[in-house]
Amino acid sequence: MKKLALHWKILIGMALGILFGFLMNNVDGGKDIVSDWIAPFGTIFINLLKLIAVPLILASLIKGVADLKDISKIKQMGLRTIGIYIATTLVAIVIGLAIVNLVKPGAGMDPDTIENIKLSFETSGSDMVTKAKTTQDAGPLQALIDIFPQNIFVALGDASMLQIIFFALFVGICLLLIEEKKAKPLIKFFDSLNEVVMKMVDLIMLFAPYAVFALLANVIIAFDDPEILIKLVAYAACVVGGLILMIGFYLVLVKVIGKKSPLWFLKQISPAQLLAFSTSSSAATLPVTMERVEEHVGVDKEVAGFVLPVGATINMDGTSLYQGIAAVFIMQVIWPEGLTFGNQMVIIFTALLASIGSAAVPSAGMVMLVIVLESIGFPAELLPIGLALIFAVDRPLDMCRTTVNVTGDATVSLLVAKSLGKLREPKVKNWDDNYDKV
Ligand code: ASP
Repeated sequence: MKKLALHWKILIGMALGILFGFLMNNVDGGKDIVSDWIAPFGTIFINLLKLIAVPLILASLIKGVADLKDISKIKQMGLRTIGIYIATTLVAIVIGLAIVNLVKPGAGMDPDTIENIKLSFETSGSDMVTKAKTTQDAGPLQALIDIFPQNIFVALGDASMLQIIFFALFVGICLLLIEEKKAKPLIKFFDSLNEVVMKMVDLIMLFAPYAVFALLANVIIAFDDPEILIKLVAYAACVVGGLILMIGFYLVLVKVIGKKSPLWFLKQISPAQLLAFSTSSSAATLPVTMERVEEHVGVDKEVAGFVLPVGATINMDGTSLYQGIAAVFIMQVIWPEGLTFGNQMVIIFTALLASIGSAAVPSAGMVMLVIVLESIGFPAELLPIGLALIFAVDRPLDMCRTTVNVTGDATVSLLVAKSLGKLREPKVKNWDDNYDKV
């Protein structure tokens, strides 16, 4: 009998996890069983992915830059990457704003519903506002300062992506500037480290079907009031609809500019998408995204090694689309007088910055939404109610927007590779080859 392919196993794991979560919601003590005995396996899986993310970025980026052999190529790749990232994010925000203005999911919401939502939020999520405030207190150039580490070991320990990227680029460039004979041993070391970490991704992925079961069961037990979820269906549908359109936009780019079949592309990156959905974190998914894009899509190491870690940190199209929709939805419900054309223009700009500033971890996009709202003079006293409105459905939407964030990064790496002539035949032809060999 033919062995079941890994992507099917992951999908089955997800479906069973959801079913199991619903079942345990209705059993006495079921939630405790899930959080004490099932959820830890999901945490272990995420820890393993995070464990390899730092050495992977370091090794692949240093090796990648050193392989470029020419500093002007780095500049070319850097500018192109950032340019495309900003362009796709702007497209995402415009799609989001167009949908929410057309559908108007927040218009005419019943005051009782708003009151119920507010009550449920007070017990479960009010620390969001505090978190967002701390982020906001920093000066305007703090984000720039944060790119430059004072101590690389602290940066590695904290897994500060942009700082690690900066250090790796710096090392890579200096390797190009010193004598080849002296650069070689270090380049070889990082090359070998890169191979080892890639193998680790293959091994960790064997555990994925069980881990997604645990992760999704744990997400489901958090929903105890399906009533509120139903009331927010129109808003959630706008976000999901926008995200689907965004994926369509990527696929057009893949076809027209990348000259690759969209279905083939989706199939190659699907494990990364499934993990993004299950973990709600682009950072945790990064090792798998890199493995899929390099080995299964055929993007050269030096391109994937730069474009993907940078993208996981700053390119969040799904998040920016969501922030645009959420901001306007909240205004439609509780601050309709703020709904001016000028404010929506400001949202385009601040959602771009807020998505760049959002950390690649669960819920970060919602925390940064506060900054978007405050940029348009949203009344401070209404802020907790605004967040309360969307809090109940945030986790499922986070899962969806993270999937789009990761898909966007993979798409841009394909486009950059294509434009630099760095797209080759993938090393691994069949979907499961890597995992079968383990
Ligand atoms: N969870 C998202 C990510 O990691 C960020 C967000 O909350 O939108 O990509």
